Order: sequence, then structure tokens, then C-alpha cells
Amino acid sequence: MNWLTNFVRPKLRALVSSKPEVPDNLWHKCPNCEAMIFHRDLETNLHVCQHCGYHMRLKAARRLEMLFDDGDYTAIELPKSAVDPLRFRDTKRYTDRLREAQTKTGHNDAITVAHGLIGGNKAVIAVFDFQFMGGSMGTAVGEGLLAAAKLAVLQDAALIAVPASGGARMQEGILSLMQMPRSVIAIDLVKDAGLPYIVILTDPTTGGVTASFAMLGDIHIAEPGAQIAFAGARVIEETIRETLPDNFQTAEYLLEHGMVDIVVHRQRLRETLARIVDMLRRPTPAAQVVALNADGPATIEASAEDEAPETPEEGADEAEAETAEAEPADEDRPNP
Ligand SMILES: [Zn+2]
Repeated sequence: MNWLTNFVRPKLRALVSSKPEVPDNLWHKCPNCEAMIFHRDLETNLHVCQHCGYHMRLKAARRLEMLFDDGDYTAIELPKSAVDPLRFRDTKRYTDRLREAQTKTGHNDAITVAHGLIGGNKAVIAVFDFQFMGGSMGTAVGEGLLAAAKLAVLQDAALIAVPASGGARMQEGILSLMQMPRSVIAIDLVKDAGLPYIVILTDPTTGGVTASFAMLGDIHIAEPGAQIAFAGARVIEETIRETLPDNFQTAEYLLEHGMVDIVVHRQRLRETLARIVDMLRRPTPAAQVVALNADGPATIEASAEDEAPETPEEGADEAEAETAEAEPADEDRPNP
């Protein structure tokens, strides 16, 4: 029997399944227009549907690769936080849910922090992965935001947050709500250091995340069609007993009402971000004066007096010599 099961059966199976294997994830269906999109097209279009422009959710790693110069960045290890402090259990244990999400995404929690260059300027990005328990904010995320803010201050870099979150993580109860003021303190560290803090609002940015760090940016960029809200539309509708407009809580609606500064297509997100970071990092004329005064204007003037007069004279002599040579040639030509 051993011979049959160990030798004959695998041989037969190999014969039967010798057809070339076709991966089943070559085609993706757009959740908006239901068009079928080839996986390579999806990748080149940065997961934006080429038929209707629908922006699909991105994994954290892809987002970082897309935003940093040449897709080059270094992710940092985040400090460990207490796992399951409340020993929470609903239909599953919280620890089991965490483990599942970690296996699925390859990340420790919903946030990833990385540093690198954007348009040649130093930047730290804290990005959320919605696949990790709906990008919910627990102590690990609070810890991550604090680490990102400290790193930005340490490196004298801009901080960019890219939330994609359903809000606070209910499995951590009050501890998850405490991350709201904690993340605000983190952002204050960056603002106190005079560094830019930019938020890229992606689909969805809701709940406690919207009610804290996600709405405190110097500039708010949003992706087209992204849902940005605190409470859900249905809850609001039931509370105020009024019908809400169709595009309520979308990036475009928030732009119209002044909550968002720009809505940018994903293809142009990197260049827009680079331009904004560059503008905010460029020293203002007032800052340049302060910098000059700090260095001591006397030394700068003295060196300018020593060297400056010599070079222009030399330059002038050369220029004169050149014109002197050129002039006779011009005079010669009209007389053949
Ligand atoms: Zn589509």
C-alpha cells in the first residue's frame, strides 16, 4: 500500500495536473463601475480604475513606495505596546484577531512609519493599512504616531500622515480613545519645532482619527471620492431627521465646505506633495535675516569686502580684452 500511496498516486496526480497553472488574481473588478481590470494595468495606474477613476485602497508598503523619491525609504521599528490590555473577547479573542491581521498584512499593527526624501526634502511618513482591522487606532497606533513625530523633530523633517481608518479600536476600550489626545500631543511636537505637518486623507478617514490628528494638518490633501467623516451619514440623518446630499462626506464635498485644501488624483499626488513640502521648507526672507544675524553679519561683510573687489576687476579686464579683439575684426569685414 505504501508503494501505491507514496509513488503511484503522486505520479498520477502530476499527470492529471500538468496543465499550466493560471493564477486566479490576474483580473480585478472595479468596485465602482464593475469593469474588469488587468492586474498590470492596475499596478501602473496606482490602483486607480482607468475607466471611471475610482481610487482603490492601497497597502501601506505600496503607498510609501509611491510617495518617496524613487520609491526609496527606510521603515523604522516601532516601540512595543501592551497587547490586549483589557483581555477583550467578542466572537473571537482580540489576541486572535491581532494575530490574523498580522499574518494577513505582514505588519505588527495598523500603522507603518518610514523616512526618506520627497522632492529632495527630508520627510517622515506615518501610513495606515486599512486591511489591518480596518486601520483602527489603538495604543500601538498612538505609539507609532508619537514615534513618527519624534523622528521628524530629530531629523528636522516634514511629517506626513496618511490615515485610512475606521476610527478608534473598540477592543481596547477607553485606551484607544486616549490615543486621540496622545496623537494631538505628537503633532504639537512637530508644530512646536516649526516643521510642516501634512495630512493625505484617503478612503476612509472616519471616527476618532478624523476627530484628532487627521484634521490638524497645515495642509489637507484628499484623494478623489475618499470618505472623510466623524459619524456615519446614516447616524446623522437619523439624528437631524433631514435628507443629506448624495456626495455628503466625500473629499469633494469637504473641499467645497473648506475642510480640505486640495483634492488630488493619485497620479499627481507625489509631485503635489513634493511641491508643498518644498514651499513649506523654503526659508522665508524673515527667516534668512534671522539666520544672517545669528551667524554675525560683521564676518560676512568683511569677507565680502576682501574678496569681492578683485574678482569683478579681473572679469572686467577680460571682458574689455575680448571686445578690443572683436572690434578690429568687425571693422575689417565691411571693407573687402
Ligand atoms: Zn471603475
